[in-house]
Amino acid sequence: MNKILLSLLAVCLLCACDFIQAAKDGYKMGKELSLNVKRAINGFGDGVDEYLATFECDTFILSDANIHYSLDLEPGKQEITFNPYLAVTFVKHGTLMLDYLGFGGSIVHVDPVSMFGTDYTKMPKADVLLVTHEHGDHLDTAAISILKQENTRFYSNKRVEEITGASKGLVAGEVISESVFNIIPVLAYNTTEGRTQFHPKGRDLGFVLEYATKYENKPFRVYIAGDTEPIEEMKSLGDIDVAFLPVNQPYTMTPEQAIEAIEMIKPKVVYPYHYGNTDLTPIVEHFKNNAEIEVRIRQLQ
Ligand code: ZN
Ligand code: ZN
Repeated sequence: MNKILLSLLAVCLLCACDFIQAAKDGYKMGKELSLNVKRAINGFGDGVDEYLATFECDTFILSDANIHYSLDLEPGKQEITFNPYLAVTFVKHGTLMLDYLGFGGSIVHVDPVSMFGTDYTKMPKADVLLVTHEHGDHLDTAAISILKQENTRFYSNKRVEEITGASKGLVAGEVISESVFNIIPVLAYNTTEGRTQFHPKGRDLGFVLEYATKYENKPFRVYIAGDTEPIEEMKSLGDIDVAFLPVNQPYTMTPEQAIEAIEMIKPKVVYPYHYGNTDLTPIVEHFKNNAEIEVRIRQLQ
């Protein structure tokens, strides 16, 4: 097998998707992206790819644009053509990893914690770390110190900034611009009497991540709700392509509340997450004949 075929195979394996297409209008990338391209062609190395393959992962193609990379790597030139994509790795519970590659590249870890057995020494390092709040199933300073590199940006709510002294505490509504996407923190809180002490309004966050698709006018928008019940702010999130909504008692939503939230947000794809032992059947049943909203169940107990 020649090197190009091997390269394409490596990317297919890495993302478990058949997004490679023949080059049409090649889009030449600058040298600043070469590290990301090497990663796409060669994988993460050091056993990371093998470890990642033990998790479920869904890949979203963000644009029909064909991106053509060519690299002068030893021992010869390697070329690759693909569509911009976002691969979401479902780590466990409230923990996700988002891998974007297209007009730039970025690895985002959301609420990385070791308590469910994840070995962060075998995970890709973070370009961006996002922590929604300080509860033990969301904040783990040991996992963070493993994932953090010199240039990692670490964003959280204000409380996590106070606790760790290492993150930038955000407030709902501001917009953080990364080179290839925006981070928009949004509120996450309980509304049911007797439960508001779990996540009081104004303290904790969810995030909307807004990825540029370049050739389409609309960005690709991912909503990661954090620990919340249905809240009025969900009505004004704007278009959401992919949503993660927490479903467990007594801390977040019942399945019925999740249905209510989904009907407010109207995401194209929704993943119940942070769901523990909750029976998700009512959510699946409610939307099974809805052509606009797809409910996907993954290993996010
Ligand atoms: Zn919590
Ligand atoms: Zn939680």
